Amino acid sequence: MADDCIFCKIIRREIPSKIIAENDDILVIQDIAPKAPTHYLIIPKKHIADVRSLSEADAHLFGNVMLMAKELSSKMNNAPFRLIINNGPEVGQSVFHSHVHYIAGKKMTDF
Ligand code: 5GP
Ligand code: ZN
Repeated sequence: MADDCIFCKIIRREIPSKIIAENDDILVIQDIAPKAPTHYLIIPKKHIADVRSLSEADAHLFGNVMLMAKELSSKMNNAPFRLIINNGPEVGQSVFHSHVHYIAGKKMTDF
């Protein structure tokens, strides 16, 4: 956990959020500024800055992140969705606690 990290604060319930799903390792919340009708953030509870900071020990955790995406999808009749992970401010990362955007509900063609 990092003291000054907004997602760690959300995980600790120090900042409110709309919680969509939760288990021991992962919190799923509604994005505060949704870019599609469905825009969730799948957040591992462990503070990892981005994919470049992953270690072998995180393999199981990130596998579970993908299974959470599958679970969310099955609750939405397996409708098509996009997963995005930004790694670095140059490509749009603004919160430096790794998370996967789960985006659905609109037609997407470009990146
Ligand atoms: P990134 O730009 O790092 O890939 O994604 C960060 C996401 O977190 C953005 O889509 C932004 O809207 C969302 N976000 C930032 N602060 C908060 C917050 O306090 N609550 C929630 N629910 N989402 C947030
Ligand atoms: Zn954090």
